[in-house]
Amino acid sequence: MADEYDFDLFTIGAGSGGVRASRVSAAHGARVAIAEEHRIGGTCVIRGCVPKKMLVYGAQFAEDLEDAKAFGWDIGEAKFDWVTLRDNVLTDIDRLNGLYTETLESHDVTIFHERVTLTGPHEITLESGKTVTAKNILIATGATPHVPDLPGAEHGITSNDAFHLDEIPKRALIVGGGYIANEFAGIFHQFGSKVTIINRSDTLLRSYDQSLRDRLLMISTAKGIQFHFNTTIDRIEKKDGALHVALDGADDMEVDCVLFATGRVPHTKGLGLEEVGVEIGDKGEVKVNEFSRTNIEHIYAVGDVTDRVQLTPVAIREGQAFADTVFGGEETTVDYDCIPSAVFSHPPIASVGMTEGEARNTLGGVRVYQSDFRPMKHVVAGRNERGLYKLVCDAANDRIVGIHMIAPEAPEIMQMAAVAVKAGLKKSDFDATMAIHPTMAEELVLLK
Ligand code: NDP
Repeated sequence: MADEYDFDLFTIGAGSGGVRASRVSAAHGARVAIAEEHRIGGTCVIRGCVPKKMLVYGAQFAEDLEDAKAFGWDIGEAKFDWVTLRDNVLTDIDRLNGLYTETLESHDVTIFHERVTLTGPHEITLESGKTVTAKNILIATGATPHVPDLPGAEHGITSNDAFHLDEIPKRALIVGGGYIANEFAGIFHQFGSKVTIINRSDTLLRSYDQSLRDRLLMISTAKGIQFHFNTTIDRIEKKDGALHVALDGADDMEVDCVLFATGRVPHTKGLGLEEVGVEIGDKGEVKVNEFSRTNIEHIYAVGDVTDRVQLTPVAIREGQAFADTVFGGEETTVDYDCIPSAVFSHPPIASVGMTEGEARNTLGGVRVYQSDFRPMKHVVAGRNERGLYKLVCDAANDRIVGIHMIAPEAPEIMQMAAVAVKAGLKKSDFDATMAIHPTMAEELVLLK
């Protein structure tokens, strides 16, 4: 390949998309370098999906230990120690960080543990001052938490900090009504915090089916999480170790922690992108075509920095497609249709395809099948919490166009159900499938 350059590919950012793209490009024979200013693994592995899921598991024990009594277990007084969980999680993150590093090294990818900037169309300058050149450049710098500009915002934290807390806040105010807000509301609540969510609009989890959103709100409220909608923060003041939060839309509050979960913005600032002429969109995202190519032919971008779909598996697919296209000799695009997703709230939500509202607006006629059930485990435990499954079908041809679930294990079940929706299966295919009894998932094939 092009020996006039130090590398065939220089990737900026070693998160999910960047690591996949670099490893596969190297496997295709490219000479690859990658730069990462934080830790190899990126948001998902180091300060996102992975440690969050471990906290979700830890949090679930609060209810499981309580419910165990109804199943005959006497476990005495249950006590929770945050520092033990936090440190065990961080230890496992260290292990994963090591595995990701090893993967790159075993593919002979050169790793630069420092921040870099583009200083020419093919030139990258490292923080140490050294410059290297590359035939192709891949921007995979992800996104960073957005913190609203308000007086005292510096007293708040973001999800980045939530994994390193010294203690679980007794009173937590969470700003935002999306993924991170609902996931951390569940986690903090189960660990004993008094949790309040405020959101600027009256809508939680905007992209999800209305029935699921209503059910999550109902269950969360019943558990004791407070919600204030159409509410924003005017200012935060720190006094005597507590945070005094002046609100517009609700009474002022005193809390121990304010967590901003108000979206994530593409990380493009200070990388030298504009200086070399890379086109940046209104939200700060790198604009790319279907092959993840920017307006500059040899500069590409994958993952959250492009603000297409901010999900790890999507970034990984984009990284793979980039490597196969540029170094594998096979032009590959990513199919963004029917992406399943989940919110690891308590209980979790999982979804694929069109919501009922979207289907009614898009298709001629829609048939909706619904199961509103109380999981067997909850019946025995005396837990009055109901699950909801919803199947949305195109009335014209019986094809399932959406599945939406809120119930324990919904994301685990959804991964398989999403295959059926992606494959274009019909309601009659579900009907023809024998149930596995007794399970929650059988509700999906017993809908009338
Ligand atoms: P979301 O986009 O899910 O939610 C952002 C929330 O903050 C919304 O309720 C929004 O309000 C509100 N908001 C947005 N901007 C402002 C602002 N300027 N001031 C006040 N409120 C604001 O973002 P998250 O931060 O929760 O998560 C970021 C992304 O990370 C997600 O979009 C998702 O792609 C990804 N993620 C995925 C997870 C998963 O797959 N389980 C888990 C965690 C994150 P409104 O909608 O009412 O306008």
